[in-house]
Amino acid sequence: MASKIAIIPGDGIGPEVMKQALKVLEALKSDYTLDVDYDVFDWSSDYYLKHGRMLPEDGLEKLKNYDAILFGAIGDSRVPDDVTVWELIMPIRKTFEQYVNFRPVKQLKGITSPLADSHSGEIDFVILRENSEGEYSNSGGLMFHGQEKEMAIQNSIFTKAGIKNIAEFAFEYARKHHYSKVTSATKSNAITHTMKFWDKEVGKIAESHRDIDYEKVYVDALAAKFVQQPEEFQVVLASNLFGDILSDLGSAVAGGLGISPSANINPSGEYPSMFEPVHGSAPDIAGQGRANPIAQVWSLALLLEHIGRNDLHDHILKAIEKLLLDKTQVTNDIGGSASTEEAGDALVKILRESK
Ligand code: ATP
Ligand code: MG
Repeated sequence: MASKIAIIPGDGIGPEVMKQALKVLEALKSDYTLDVDYDVFDWSSDYYLKHGRMLPEDGLEKLKNYDAILFGAIGDSRVPDDVTVWELIMPIRKTFEQYVNFRPVKQLKGITSPLADSHSGEIDFVILRENSEGEYSNSGGLMFHGQEKEMAIQNSIFTKAGIKNIAEFAFEYARKHHYSKVTSATKSNAITHTMKFWDKEVGKIAESHRDIDYEKVYVDALAAKFVQQPEEFQVVLASNLFGDILSDLGSAVAGGLGISPSANINPSGEYPSMFEPVHGSAPDIAGQGRANPIAQVWSLALLLEHIGRNDLHDHILKAIEKLLLDKTQVTNDIGGSASTEEAGDALVKILRESK
């Protein structure tokens, strides 16, 4: 039976890079016996300005029927950020229990890392970030408003189940992908309640996965190590806030936003997982044909792996590496001279030729 994919291009450069990903998808469908059907949804800031909401009332209900979601980017100066985020992205993540945020940090051949020669070896690890609770629990408030003693409190909510779920996913992921070590980001020396609890619960899961090495590293030292010894890492496990920060650092270390993909995963498979570039709608370059489509295409590769086509994932990555060999085929952000369309077309050509 054909897999079903929901496509949400979104705003700004989202539709521009999504167009290239769809060209790749079409090429794979016709040349590689990829059995997928997809539908495109125009849920975006334009949609909001027309209808007063980011997606139709039965939008989430509709998405439920898909095996996976390929998302572009959202964000527009005409619509407040809390609308785009809290009415579209967050409901999808929450309703579909996508509590794992996954980001590969892999330095592709042909990409120069800003670290240049300061490190030896290959940068190739993954970050698994808790995506549903912790520091981003939206709980707290302002007290003594307007008074001298005015203060704000933000609660971090860590549950035993939440930590167990993400930690189990990390160790199982390591096992499945033949990694031998999980590194947990912590700060229990200074954040004495939640992070001690995190250490304790992650430690329990580590105990039941004795075949995988486990280390916990203070997040400040961990950030420094991302720069000084990135080749040391295999699977990095982090809470919502720490994972957010480390992921952007990881993306910078591996070559920048234009090539960084991510996944929001529902591990049970009961609901669709969502795949999207790390970058946003990049209003500064939207409409200029300069956006790098690699992050979106790589996100598609992660989606295909998720629905069981590891072969096509690997195939796309090889094609991207081939694309990177020729600077006239890649966009300006990674030192090339191609337009978004040219980069997309060149990629499709490589895929077709390497069949
Ligand atoms: P958001 O609030 O949606 O995250 P943002 O403007 O904060 O949006 P991005 O949209 O991710 O952040 O863009 C950050 C910078 O990176 C911009 O200057 C943009 O030009 C650049 N950038 C992002 N994505 C790409 C891409 N695919 N190709 C080239 N440059 C990009
Ligand atoms: Mg941003």
